[in-house]
Amino acid sequence: MRAILFLVLLLVGQSAAAQTVLQCSPAHDRIVREALDSAKSLTTMAATAVGDTPEYARWFGVYSDHNAEIVRANLKAVVRAIRTGAVTVQCDSIRDDGCGNGEYAWVYAHRPYRIYLCPSFFDLPPLTALRPGTTASNNGTREGTFVHELSHFRPVARTEDHCYTRRICSRMASTDPARAIENADNYQYYTEDVIYYASQPVSGKAPP
Ligand SMILES: [Zn+2]
Repeated sequence: MRAILFLVLLLVGQSAAAQTVLQCSPAHDRIVREALDSAKSLTTMAATAVGDTPEYARWFGVYSDHNAEIVRANLKAVVRAIRTGAVTVQCDSIRDDGCGNGEYAWVYAHRPYRIYLCPSFFDLPPLTALRPGTTASNNGTREGTFVHELSHFRPVARTEDHCYTRRICSRMASTDPARAIENADNYQYYTEDVIYYASQPVSGKAPP
């Protein structure tokens, strides 16, 4: 009886954690699952780190408790989406819709939680592999891309693409915090910077 109960728990546990990966090679399937898993824990850390910090100011502008509460809730919603185990990731080719303009990934916001990955996604570094002094994160990371895409879904954070890139979106944070807290790239770069900085000693931090 105890053995049967254990088996049931095991099966329930697995189905809760298993995401669906479609049309990816075995190597890419592994990368996708690792990045999703890692995004779950890193985004949890990013949500916990929300506060009156330089990383917050860089991506969401002048600090307010009200805005910080929204940012924290949106990051937690990303974590919850991954925890459902209902994320479906599909590997697309460069010829497929949505992958033509140098995209790394894309989604339909009204279709949670299906994420289409373009081939260039696999050229991005994993966030956990970044080391002090590197500029490899300038175009993002695998985990950060998942944060960006998941944040778009309506049951998650309904974010927009008001701007793209670190340069333009950090400028938007300083001029228009209300738009920055609605913008997918800002959640991505905030998460990447918090984690990247967290992996370094406090003194002499290089810019990510
Ligand atoms: Zn987007």
